[in-house]
Amino acid sequence: MTVMSNRDFADHQEVVFFNDGESGLRAIVTIHDTTLGPALGGCRMWPYASEDEALTDVLRLSRGMTYKAAMAGLELGGGKAVIIGDPRRHKTTALLRRFGRCVDTLQGRYITAEDVGTSVEDMDVVRQVTDHVTGLGGLSGDPSPATAWGVFSGIRAAVRHRLGSDDLGGITVAVQGFGHVGRWLCRYLHEAGARLLVADLRDQALEQAVAEFGAEIVPLDRILAAQADVLAPCALGAVFDDVTIPTIRAGIVAGAANNQLSEPRHGEMLHRHGVLYAPDYVVNAGGVINITYERPIYDREAAFRHIGGIYETLTDLWRRAERAGLAPEQMADRIVEERLAAKRGLPAQLAAAS
Ligand code: NAD
Repeated sequence: MTVMSNRDFADHQEVVFFNDGESGLRAIVTIHDTTLGPALGGCRMWPYASEDEALTDVLRLSRGMTYKAAMAGLELGGGKAVIIGDPRRHKTTALLRRFGRCVDTLQGRYITAEDVGTSVEDMDVVRQVTDHVTGLGGLSGDPSPATAWGVFSGIRAAVRHRLGSDDLGGITVAVQGFGHVGRWLCRYLHEAGARLLVADLRDQALEQAVAEFGAEIVPLDRILAAQADVLAPCALGAVFDDVTIPTIRAGIVAGAANNQLSEPRHGEMLHRHGVLYAPDYVVNAGGVINITYERPIYDREAAFRHIGGIYETLTDLWRRAERAGLAPEQMADRIVEERLAAKRGLPAQLAAAS
């Protein structure tokens, strides 16, 4: 495997491989950028088909964390960890403790948290061997309600930007993925009077969506093209590409999934298709914002107030993008690069190139 020739290696500061035969741990930790603070990012456990696939995933996700924290105005950098393995079969206390010891060797340059395939309870195990872990039980815990609150705030901002009022009564939202975040998002939307269209791979999730929120079920292959005001991708990344974008009928796209664009150019394509896009790393920052309110005592009210600010952040972003004639994603990237450059004391063009 070639690391530095991976096209997503880009400007990563550090990539560390951990291998432990005894516990079966195979992990990669990436630190993308610590200009604004220590690199925070969850630990994903997934049965990757190859180490290359794991590397590409972790590199992309850690870069996204730098951009997410910078746009949210946090004093944090971007990092991420992946453990290669099936969480249902390979996750043991010994493996998690070993992972925690690996994180500890990075001396706080990387702070871990739960992610897909790991849980708040797993992080409590990691905490037994390192201080550099957050999102713990009894403190901020499961980030999903916070992430969903940010997405909900972003949807309200988008509806206001497009339709002049942020009243969601009668607005139709198509939600792809009724998992941790999707379910909370549906709860907030339902309470605000929105009509819900939902697709998920799991029958049980669909039954819940109908029973709890009166959602209408849409087949998996039709949700992205559903007739709705808002499309909220809350399942997988890379959902928007040359094939799916021309089929989108919603005027607004705002959802929790990370890395929604297959390639950066798809941000511009969404824009040309007439979609008002809430860039993923801006609208899904609620979880990471929440974590910064965890210590010394978790302050949920202050955290949710800060997360609600995603409404203003996005409104400002769309206005600036319109003035500059850019797609929102391009404008957001530019704002982040300027922030990093200012902190480094460099002009933005030089910082982006460094
Ligand atoms: P989750 O695994 O709990 O939920 C994902 C749901 O999507 C599951 O119910 C799954 O069955 C469904 N799904 C998978 N493929 C699908 C498909 N093709 N069509 C329809 N449904 C499908 O994950 P989550 O924690 O809810 O996170 C959702 C997304 O948001 C992920 O991309 C995650 O990286 C991102 N995200 C989550 C958080 C958080 O706080 N949990 C924070 C930021 C970003």
